[in-house]
Amino acid sequence: MSTNHPTIKTDVYEIINNKICALMEQGQIPWKMCWSRGKTHLAVSHTTGKEYSFLNNLLIAADDGEWPHGEYLTFKQALAEGGSVKPGAKGHFITFWTFPEKKEIQEDGTEKIVKSDRPMLRYYYVFEVSQCTGIKRKYPNTQPEVKEDVNPIEAAEEVIKNYYNREGIKLNICVSNKAYFRPSTDEVVCPLMGQFENEAEYYSTLFHETTHSTGVENRLNRFKKDDHDPFGSESYSKEELVAEMGAAYCLGRLGIENDFTVKNSAAYLQNWLEALRNDKHLFVCACSRAEEAVKFIFDNVRPERN
Ligand SMILES: [Zn+2]
Repeated sequence: MSTNHPTIKTDVYEIINNKICALMEQGQIPWKMCWSRGKTHLAVSHTTGKEYSFLNNLLIAADDGEWPHGEYLTFKQALAEGGSVKPGAKGHFITFWTFPEKKEIQEDGTEKIVKSDRPMLRYYYVFEVSQCTGIKRKYPNTQPEVKEDVNPIEAAEEVIKNYYNREGIKLNICVSNKAYFRPSTDEVVCPLMGQFENEAEYYSTLFHETTHSTGVENRLNRFKKDDHDPFGSESYSKEELVAEMGAAYCLGRLGIENDFTVKNSAAYLQNWLEALRNDKHLFVCACSRAEEAVKFIFDNVRPERN
């Protein structure tokens, strides 16, 4: 761990928020980046093989204009493997939660290093293997060929069926002019696929509402009880962002191709830009809630906190 600059406190939230807002000022919405069909693997760590968090995938997508599929490592890790980073290669800003260590004086007067129980968001710069020399790709399946027999729609239907059956949520796909989740009846209503321009729009809407359904108390409990007005501006916009990102992440995990970028209306963009500027924690927080929701939908995994 570097202790060269102990007095410099970097506000990682602010860096991320500025980066995202700058992109949106150019008319792009990071969570509406294009996915390519069949590519269901997101960015992984070259060192551990672990899939990057949704936030880190979004941050890399914000740099590259498309969702990442490769394997990434830091400058130091490249050197440690006997390779290096190509001159001029631009690193990707990513974040990790760490539990900082601190010294504690024991009863007998000796010092002990203990881990803080409050995680801190730290950042690194990472490079894709293609930006390095002398590094061998370890997970070539992170850039899979598009196979004919991969059917993202079948996979999506399977996820939907399993989740709604498992949770006992009513799913009403019918001729309708709106989609919604109604907590009081634990029910999702969604228009027919034929009412949308394409399948990506349909699944995006369906997974948006499905993400909302994970927020009730006996699931991930995002709607706080004391929140007498769940549609009051702040919590409503937070939950909406969670649902928007959850839908994007679902499409990515399934490899459903989309092309939303051209349809992002100025009002939609302006709305989110304003919300993000008003709350620098909103983006990072919504990202992690969206990731939790998607893991719950796909894998029935609940977050460890609480
Ligand atoms: Zn919504």
